[in-house]
Amino acid sequence: MFEKIRSYTMKMNPLERSTYAIVLSIVVLLLVIFVSIFRVSNVASLLIIASAGILLALSALSRTKFRFILLAIFTGALLLLLLIRHEGSALYVFSVLLRFLILGLSITIFTPRITDVARRIYLDIQRLADEREHALNESRRWLLRANALVQVTTAIVTRGMQSGLDEVLKVCLEEAGIAFSADSGLIYRVDRKSGKMSIISSFGYDDALLEKMKKKGINDSALCEACQRMNPVVTNNLATDEKCKNLGPVRTGSSICVPITTKNNLWGVLHLRRMRTDAFTEEDTDLARAVAFQFAIAMQRAYLFDQLNMLAVTDELTGLYNFRKLREDLEREIIRSKRYNHNFSFIMGDIDHFKNLNDTYGHQSGDAVLKEIARALNTGKREVDRAYRYGGEEFALVLPETMLDEALEVAEKLRKKVEELKVIPPAQSEPLRVTISMGVSSYPTNGTEADTIIGSADKALYASKQAGRNRVFAYRSNMALNQ
Ligand code: GH3
Ligand code: MG
Ligand code: MG
Repeated sequence: MFEKIRSYTMKMNPLERSTYAIVLSIVVLLLVIFVSIFRVSNVASLLIIASAGILLALSALSRTKFRFILLAIFTGALLLLLLIRHEGSALYVFSVLLRFLILGLSITIFTPRITDVARRIYLDIQRLADEREHALNESRRWLLRANALVQVTTAIVTRGMQSGLDEVLKVCLEEAGIAFSADSGLIYRVDRKSGKMSIISSFGYDDALLEKMKKKGINDSALCEACQRMNPVVTNNLATDEKCKNLGPVRTGSSICVPITTKNNLWGVLHLRRMRTDAFTEEDTDLARAVAFQFAIAMQRAYLFDQLNMLAVTDELTGLYNFRKLREDLEREIIRSKRYNHNFSFIMGDIDHFKNLNDTYGHQSGDAVLKEIARALNTGKREVDRAYRYGGEEFALVLPETMLDEALEVAEKLRKKVEELKVIPPAQSEPLRVTISMGVSSYPTNGTEADTIIGSADKALYASKQAGRNRVFAYRSNMALNQ
């Protein structure tokens, strides 16, 4: 019994314990008053104190109705004791019994109530404390997420122009990983023309798994559910749920795939995974959308930036690279060839009697001829070579790792291709025929600087014009003297 009381009091919360202490002190006080007012005998006092103590303990320990029966038994015992020992008059006995009954009822009725209230109050306080703790944790979590979102935006804004897109997205993906407490993640880029998907950044997946994903998965955005729905797709259990083929080798946890879009343009897909199943909530989906939109802005900006760069080095009329790009590429090719001890060749071409063609058929016909020749040169050259519009009706080609003899063969092939061209300009029925003269120079034999290489090819071109046009000449050192 004593052990039981001890273990019970240990289980009590602090408020319950202090309430019991107060109740106990009140009962003791009442008993002292009781005993001293009536001056009952020692035996009767003992019976009263013991009965009150037992009733108090029983009321505190359980809510059993038995305690009322026990009170009746104690009252009967007290009556018996008072009668046997002849303690006072009948009124005295009645008065003692009545007060004992009131005291006993107060203990048996109010003790459980008071302690119940104490327990309820304590549980309420604890619930409030738990709620406060939960709210604090939530705000900490959101703060972390908001911070990661800011980091994503900051990386895009500050690094956007200095670093390449891949570098920016790598940083952003890592920040997104923190924001979502994700264990692994990926970014796919979707090619705007072909719709093909390729992984450009990842974390948490090892190389072997990435390789499997690439091999066994889909690489076409037309087959990607998130891309087609233009909405996030959540897989709650990667072990059992139906899932995208790319996630075939990933067999634990849950994932979310969010299309990276601006308006109706699809730029890629953001994929995040947690080791737990059912780990992505509605709230996660909303946040993932916001993060993916930031990625979309970065990808769109990089695309526009590339477009702008492309425009800056592209000739509007022919679509070939322009003179600026030719200078850049030549400088780069010289450095590369110097380092690896390679040769490269350079071809200059100039359309023959083009002024006459313009004068006879008009400039629009001249433009159509320029476009067709550009196309012939661009498609006739080898894959590794590059064609440029040097200016006016002059074209140039850079042929990496090519000796002069080989370059002469390429030039001759292109000259023939131009000769065979039949251009029918708009609003004209008769096809026009044109020829082109060409000069070829080679690095390092005919020059080690961009200017001298161009100058040498130009001199060879001049020589082929002098020799009657529609031919290819290689540079020779005595050509300068002939001019
Ligand atoms: P040659 O055989 O000696 O090269 O004679 P040519 O008439 O081709 O040479 P010239 O340098 O006298 O004339 C080049 C002409 O190219 C002059 C110009 O009207 C024409 N031209 C230059 N750029 C363009 C262009 O963008 N469009 C058109 N239609 N003509 C152009
Ligand atoms: Mg010219
Ligand atoms: Mg010309």
